[in-house]
Amino acid sequence: MRIPELFKAKKPVISFEIFPPKRETGLEKIYETVGKLSVCNPDFISVTYGAAGSLVNNYTCEIASRIKHDYGIEPLAHLTCVNSSMSDVDEMIRRFAEADIENVLALRGDIVPEAAIKSEFSHANELAIEVQRNSGLQILGACYPEGHTESRNLIEDIHNLKYKIGAGAKVLITQLFFDNQKFYEFLAAARNLGVDVPVSAGIMPIVSHKQIEKTVALSGASIPPAFAEMIEKYGDDPDALYEHGIQYAVDQIRDLIEHGVDGIHLYTMNNPEVSLEIYERVKDLL
Ligand code: FAD
Repeated sequence: MRIPELFKAKKPVISFEIFPPKRETGLEKIYETVGKLSVCNPDFISVTYGAAGSLVNNYTCEIASRIKHDYGIEPLAHLTCVNSSMSDVDEMIRRFAEADIENVLALRGDIVPEAAIKSEFSHANELAIEVQRNSGLQILGACYPEGHTESRNLIEDIHNLKYKIGAGAKVLITQLFFDNQKFYEFLAAARNLGVDVPVSAGIMPIVSHKQIEKTVALSGASIPPAFAEMIEKYGDDPDALYEHGIQYAVDQIRDLIEHGVDGIHLYTMNNPEVSLEIYERVKDLL
């Protein structure tokens, strides 16, 4: 199933994101997670691509293939390019096609000091061009409600976003955000500048102290007062943070759906229990 078609057929499209384990021994656990997530009937599940873009020990294709063939759920395979050569990328596209995968999230990837930058690709739009040239894969792309950290401002980032749409990206998925207002402002600005493809809102529930230190601090996402208050009050109380973190994500999602969002993309962090609980609390709106 072509994911862009799903966005034409229903609203909101519900998707989950999982990440592959570092080692083969973790694969069983990830399939258990997919099995649990399947209870929520997601429209698709996306599988991230290793940060350094290595073809070795890269389970994205294998996991995406099993999501499709063993669980009957549409997979979205992520693919990055900045640390890959053209032949690495072409090899990965070939593997996706061979595994009957139909949709790819075309990403540049983060520029990390540990991984060599191979010069053939500078931006996601160049990867999208190569995917179009070399396959029939449907292309999705990433976007940033508060602007990508490398952009001077949101408007410049939205102008750059249009390159990947011009190169074939038919749906966008956002970076996580905690302030829905930022998303609405981004969407209005993007529509105003001619971004006319569906935009799915990326939501990450924050349910543990470790996530506050790692994800929240590093994401650069704005912290609205209600979120700051939650961290302040419950940051050192694991049970209370778990409950309030879930409820915060639920409130965000309910508000987005009431505002007519095209899709909700839940960053599951491979935690099916949290995702199931969120689903239970929003399913009346779906
Ligand atoms: P680009 O679209 O190339 O944008 C990067 C920067 O360059 C932006 O500032 C943009 O404004 C600018 N730019 C874009 N195109 C041009 C152009 N043609 N000319 C000049 N400037 C331009 N990372 C992983 O390693 N693996 C994953 O699986 C993964 N999944 C992700 C999923 C989502 C939904 C999101 C939002 C991010 C994900 N990332 C992942 C992180 C992503 O790789 C980084 O955020 C990366 O820094 C940018 O990727 P991009 O595809 O948005 O890049």
